[in-house]
Amino acid sequence: MTEHVSAKPLEEKRDAIVARTLRWWDGARRSLPWRAEPGATPDPYRVWLSEILLQQTTVQAVTPYYRTFLERWPAVEDLAAAPIEAVISAFAGLGYYSRARNLHACAKAVAERGGRFPSDEAALRALPGVGAYTAAAVAAIAFDRQAAPVDGNIARIVARLTALDAPIAESRKTIAAVAAALAPARRAGDFAQALMDIGATVCRPRAPDCRACPLRPDCAAFRSGAPEAYPRKGAVKPKPRRMGAVFFAHRADGAFLARRRPPKGLLASTVELPGTAWTGEGPGGAWAEGAPVEARWRRLPGVVEQVFTHFALSLNVYAAPYDRAVPERHFWVAPHEVGEAGFSNVMRKAVRHAIDGGRGASGQPS
Ligand code: SF4
Repeated sequence: MTEHVSAKPLEEKRDAIVARTLRWWDGARRSLPWRAEPGATPDPYRVWLSEILLQQTTVQAVTPYYRTFLERWPAVEDLAAAPIEAVISAFAGLGYYSRARNLHACAKAVAERGGRFPSDEAALRALPGVGAYTAAAVAAIAFDRQAAPVDGNIARIVARLTALDAPIAESRKTIAAVAAALAPARRAGDFAQALMDIGATVCRPRAPDCRACPLRPDCAAFRSGAPEAYPRKGAVKPKPRRMGAVFFAHRADGAFLARRRPPKGLLASTVELPGTAWTGEGPGGAWAEGAPVEARWRRLPGVVEQVFTHFALSLNVYAAPYDRAVPERHFWVAPHEVGEAGFSNVMRKAVRHAIDGGRGASGQPS
């Protein structure tokens, strides 16, 4: 098959595929904190919240965040009434901070509608931060609408089912059409969750367990004898590297200076160590000129590395004892507050690196 895969052959087998998949799921479904137990009515707030939190990350990473959100804001109106800083702090560590802002904006929009989420995909998509995937997932799982969410796991399953001969990134429309052709009119939410579970536990990226898979009788990649050869890989473009420095000004009691990033742009409104801009080139060893206060700065060994969507970052970390005036827009953070203060992942790494004095660093200093 080529990338011009037709959804037709699978559509014709849809009833059988769906029946087998649901039978499998009824016996093998994962129990997840946000999932309604069999027979219970799903809560759209929980479904939406979990789907937003789960974007770009794993069930394991999200579970404690989900529990915190539900404890603090048990209903969408509670989340809507929360200060944005509290939402961003609760989100810190999950990355993609525009999502925290959209999460809050969406909660407000739903609260204004009386706290009820719309049930159809188009109306869901009109909400802040709700893209095609989330709209389809909420419509299917919370409202049992005939919708076909396609996340990375489901895209991989479809690519294998059809032995798609092109990378996923070049085949989004084809994959969406095949997924839509498979979505059943009844139990669409269960079917979508079944595919998610197959992707997570059976049709894994490496070593798919085809023997345990309910899709095997209709899977072209299985028939090919080399299911792992799908999805086809695209060319990987190296990411440009940016560099910068952060400054760990610490008191004798361990507290250190921090500040909040601007409300717009990368890592918006998260807390960070003061530092330089992140640029394409280093300043030739003069990073300390960007320090927020005058102190006896010492560059720690190693660098902190982080990969963002569009670039890779290397941060030099400087440390110095400091107990004088707090510069404008800066504040003290005690070491035990780091988890709750709203630091992004890269800044948590930088703080840990500084507290460890650069021990355990892997990167080379610039
Ligand atoms: Fe994936 Fe194998 Fe199932 Fe095909 S049969 S969907 S390759 S686990």
